[in-house]
Amino acid sequence: MLAAMDGIIFDIQRFSTHDGDGIRTIVFFKGCPLRCTWCENPESQATKPELLFDPRHCINCSSCLQPEASGLMHRDAAGRIAIVRPVPATGSANARISHAAMEATAGLCPSLAIRVAGRKMSAGEIIAEVMKDEIFFRNSGGGVTFSGGEPLLQSGVLLELVRSFTGLGLDCAMETCLAIGPGTIEPFLDFSLTWLVDLKHTDARVFREGTGGNLSMVMDNMERLADSGAKMVFRVPVIPGFNDNDQAMGGILAYAAMLASMAQSQQGFAGRQHGAAVVKPHLDLLPYHDLAAGKYAALGRPYPYARGLSVSRAFLEYHAKAGAELGLEIGIGG
Ligand code: SF4
Repeated sequence: MLAAMDGIIFDIQRFSTHDGDGIRTIVFFKGCPLRCTWCENPESQATKPELLFDPRHCINCSSCLQPEASGLMHRDAAGRIAIVRPVPATGSANARISHAAMEATAGLCPSLAIRVAGRKMSAGEIIAEVMKDEIFFRNSGGGVTFSGGEPLLQSGVLLELVRSFTGLGLDCAMETCLAIGPGTIEPFLDFSLTWLVDLKHTDARVFREGTGGNLSMVMDNMERLADSGAKMVFRVPVIPGFNDNDQAMGGILAYAAMLASMAQSQQGFAGRQHGAAVVKPHLDLLPYHDLAAGKYAALGRPYPYARGLSVSRAFLEYHAKAGAELGLEIGIGG
């Protein structure tokens, strides 16, 4: 059973130089309310732990077919090692037992072809893991970034982490799609966080088609953040067939500029966030790539895009220039 101060985490990545200032440790929370067709972390979407199998690393030793593997792996009709899908309940439908069986199965594999995405960690365990790199944070102006999945879906443990890390004087950043219920962000507004917010589209119908989500909920949260004077960095995935057109990109840039202007105009914004300096609002254009295709295969899911798709550099540079003319500092590639 998950205690209030436990989280389901699918990765803790050290020494990142993206997703915030300086050297950072990224804590990836499992579970997301959206189903973006281009998602780079498909193993983050479901809340429960999942088994992944990468046949490229399999040496065909059959260890995972032993009884200790609880029947989670088998040879398919072609004689190849594969995950049994759907993953069978092991003894009971109890998720904890299934998780233990997944871990046991992964532990049998000598070549790390099998792994489990997602494990329960207490707030204390997460803090201890992150603080191993404290010296790098202090020397580089870095800190910890909460990502996912959607970290705000696990707001209880997340708030405890934010409270603890800010209490330790560590810089905290929150990478979020903001597709979360009203009021969820309120307790986090008491802290000086950098909000790395996804800005995917401004047309509700297209947004729903591409992500399965409700744009008005996202926009309500964005406007609440801006109204609070929060430091926001906009992250715009540029996706073929979704928003790689002038109309979509024009709407996104104009909306980001409006939010940035709202945030900057709030009394106390500069003083509370960055001493006397007003920080130029930043927006990253993140061009589509297909590096996650192998993860979809490992989860037994089809990859939804044709291989080799890309967004042209000229398109990105054109809209970077347009964003700069609106007063935004634009990065390409994040
Ligand atoms: S234990 Fe690992 S390497 Fe051996 S057959 Fe199973 S997946 Fe392949």
